Amino acid sequence: MTTTSTRQTTDRPVLDAETLWQKDKDHFIHPFTDFSVFHEEGCDLITDSDGIYVEDARGNRFIDGIAGLWCVNVGHGRAEIGQAMADQATRMAYFSTFNNLSNAPAAELAAKLAELAPAHLNHVFYSCGGSAANDATIRLVHYYFNRLGKPNKKRILSRNNAYHGTTYLAATLTGIECNNWDFDTLDHLVTHLSEANCYRRPEGMSEAEYCDQLVKEFEDTVAEIGADNIAAFIAEPIMGAGGVLVAPEGYHVRMQAVCRANDILFIADEVVTGFGRLGHFFASESVFDTRPDIINCAKGLSSGYAPLGATLISDEIYEVLGTPQRKGGVLSTGFTYSGHPVSCAAALKSIEIIEREAICENVREVGPYLEQRLKTLSHHATVGDVRGSHFMMCLENVADKDTKELLPVEARVGDRIAFEAQKRGLIIRPVGHLNVISPTLIWSRETVDTAVAILDEALTAATESLR
Ligand code: PLP
Repeated sequence: MTTTSTRQTTDRPVLDAETLWQKDKDHFIHPFTDFSVFHEEGCDLITDSDGIYVEDARGNRFIDGIAGLWCVNVGHGRAEIGQAMADQATRMAYFSTFNNLSNAPAAELAAKLAELAPAHLNHVFYSCGGSAANDATIRLVHYYFNRLGKPNKKRILSRNNAYHGTTYLAATLTGIECNNWDFDTLDHLVTHLSEANCYRRPEGMSEAEYCDQLVKEFEDTVAEIGADNIAAFIAEPIMGAGGVLVAPEGYHVRMQAVCRANDILFIADEVVTGFGRLGHFFASESVFDTRPDIINCAKGLSSGYAPLGATLISDEIYEVLGTPQRKGGVLSTGFTYSGHPVSCAAALKSIEIIEREAICENVREVGPYLEQRLKTLSHHATVGDVRGSHFMMCLENVADKDTKELLPVEARVGDRIAFEAQKRGLIIRPVGHLNVISPTLIWSRETVDTAVAILDEALTAATESLR
């Protein structure tokens, strides 16, 4: 795919880029990629980045409207994060954290996370990303109930269209049907409830009634499976990859209450919502007034500068996990890279920047403006819904605004709009018929204006191309 930007910067050695592209095409199995399209249209090599921008090998500069992949929260090209990583890598790049071994950044970061998280979450289990954090969490939850003498409490309740990752277990938690086409899943462990999709709720039903219906479905499912067989309920505070779905008012609090009443753990997957995207370090308590037993995070934890995930565990659960189960027994789970010093150093620096530059405050200030400006795009023929919160937004494209009927898949409406936006210097993410806007958290109001003006033009061009 060749793209031209309005912003041409430095000359790039195009031939070298072509050689790299060939190597890529021949050998790199890209995640979440349609290889037929990829081989036909090619790909962009992203080579440089700075603040709100990324640049490709041809010197085209783009505003990054997706923060890499909902993760570069503090923005690109932060030399001080690079320096912190380099300092740690040259001093002590890696050593095990098994048994009684540790390292300074991992210890410091664990304490910092305990300080930032809701008060009862004081214990951190490290992994290498969001999928691994969710996977490790479910193992720990099962272990916890086994230790409590409740070995039947195994089932995890997730939701349709949830995205929790792609390890075997995380992919099973994930409820986006097409993600698991032709893959196997561990179905005996997971049951999916309905997602909370206010835009597509039953015709004539108020949001409050819809919320009642979702909570009732949860209660009925618990009654059917039996609370004695259910370990946990996992949910993203705002569903991300499944379509940036904001649940109806009170939903999370009420789902948590059902969990509490039935001895079911409440797990918040804050892989996307954590570290400022909704204007707070963690959204569960500050935005949704919930008190999860476990919060998982990744992505914005290190602003994507290094792979890192973390499971934040309550004192109550830790008390069980942290007690030796038998003489000579240990908590036999973890990764070579649990608490990797270079990743933890990146996370500490990223958190320092979020605090020092008041980035959560920026999101709380600019986020509502982004929402308001994106809503002005509703007049476009394909834009059926503009939704989300703060720096987690999405356009849902439809064929008919009244019936909410979708365009045929072959129209590739999300791709078309993203392509037109990229041509004009803005990267947004197509997800089927949706377009996600999840920028770096350093956008100003001026950046919002520029991005929305580009999107406006892109929507006009894409709509015309559909005629
Ligand atoms: N959980 C959520 C809510 C996510 O959005 C993602 C990734 O997008 C994951 C988990 C998986 O994270 P990772 O890709 O780092 O494994």
